[in-house]
Amino acid sequence: MDTVSKKKRSEIMSRIRSKNTRPEMIVRKYLSSKGYRYRLHDKRLPGKPDIVLKKKKIAIEVRGCFWHGHNCKLSSYPKTNRKYWKNKINNNKKRDKKNDKLLRKIGYKLIIINECKINKKINF
Ligand SMILES: [Zn+2]
Repeated sequence: MDTVSKKKRSEIMSRIRSKNTRPEMIVRKYLSSKGYRYRLHDKRLPGKPDIVLKKKKIAIEVRGCFWHGHNCKLSSYPKTNRKYWKNKINNNKKRDKKNDKLLRKIGYKLIIINECKINKKINF
């Protein structure tokens, strides 16, 4: 049984789901400081990559470990509704895989940055 109320749950999830997540902001700041110009969440590309360097044909995905099933300590399932979450995360992973493939097919290089690595130095 789920011990967290529905309202509380959606509150928690909307916080996790928000678009301009902190790790993404860190990457964006870093890119700006290096003088890169980029697009955000480009709908014309498979999977709407978080950050796109169009001229260089590079897409950068900043992935929350939980949502993308990174298998690190940040990605453990909630204690309740495990089955639901497992299913959901698995679907996310499948979708990631599909989009990654499509992106590469049209000549993009994809850089995936996992949330748990964001505090370490970023190397491009
Ligand atoms: Zn991780």
